[in-house]
This record gives sequence, structure tokens and C-alpha cells, in this order.
Amino acid sequence: MARNIRDWQYEVHKTAKNKGWWDPQSPAEQQVAQDLAIITLLHRNLSADVEALRKGESPPSKKITYEQAEQTVRAMHPARVLMLSKLALIHSEVSEAAESIYDSEWVASYDLQYAEGSKKPEGLLSELADVVIRCLDLAAHLGIELSRGMSLKHRFNKSRTHRHGNKLA
Ligand SMILES: [Mg+2]
Repeated sequence: MARNIRDWQYEVHKTAKNKGWWDPQSPAEQQVAQDLAIITLLHRNLSADVEALRKGESPPSKKITYEQAEQTVRAMHPARVLMLSKLALIHSEVSEAAESIYDSEWVASYDLQYAEGSKKPEGLLSELADVVIRCLDLAAHLGIELSRGMSLKHRFNKSRTHRHGNKLA
């Protein structure tokens, strides 16, 4: 069934809530959310390297340390920790997409794959879908519409200069 992005956002978030992913967190779950939030902050170090490489610059030498990230997260409101933890899960799906490219088991096709006897879709297409699903779910939780953000950002991208100012990637 064809759905527009707004409908997908509603459906995806409804399913996530039904599966318990937005239930009040136990102390153990709060601890995991904090650890995931720390990972998200540390991931910024690598993303800063990505942005520098795109601009043909040297990777920045100033990095956030684990201790700094931990301190920042501990001082943060739990709602913001939760958001950061959800971003860690989006990062994780991107890494799974990367695995589906370098893992020779799936090299024959980037379409959906199924391990023997399993109904779970895997492979690059599945992981890219996971990225979008997690983005839609987080947007719904925050009461913002991803489709609106996409429209505005796409319109802006069309107005940008060639390779956004001759970036290298
Ligand atoms: Mg996945």
C-alpha cells in the first residue's frame, strides 16, 4: 500500500510505541540510554573528521574525550539523554548498512536478504530502511514532521551552489 511520508511517520511511531520502545524507562534502561548518549557525543569526533575531509581540511585535533562526554550527559535532562540515545541507534543502523556492503556474505545483492530459516529481512536495503524508520519514529516522538523538514531542506539544496561550494565529497 502506497503511503505518504506523513502516514509512514504515524504508522512507524505507533508500532514503536506498541512494541514498548517509548515506555517509561527502568533504571537499567536509563543507564543504557546514558551510555548510548555518550557514544553519540563521541561519534561527533568522527563526524567532525568527515566534515573536514569534505572541505579538504585537516581533521580537527580537538576531540571530546570520554570523560567530557560522560560529564555532559550526566548533567543533561533525561529527555535530552533519550533523544541522544535514539541518535546512537540511527548511527548503529548506518553501521549495519556499512556491514552489509563489506560483509562478503551479502555481496551478491544489495536487495533484501534472508538467512536460511529466518524471516528477518537483512542486507543494505533493510538497513537503509531502518535508518529512515528510526528517523521517522524520533520525529514523531518530538512532534515534528520529517516530510516538512525534507521539503524545506530539498528546496534549499536545489538553491545551493555546485557541490555546495566545491566540497570534495
Ligand atoms: Mg538494522
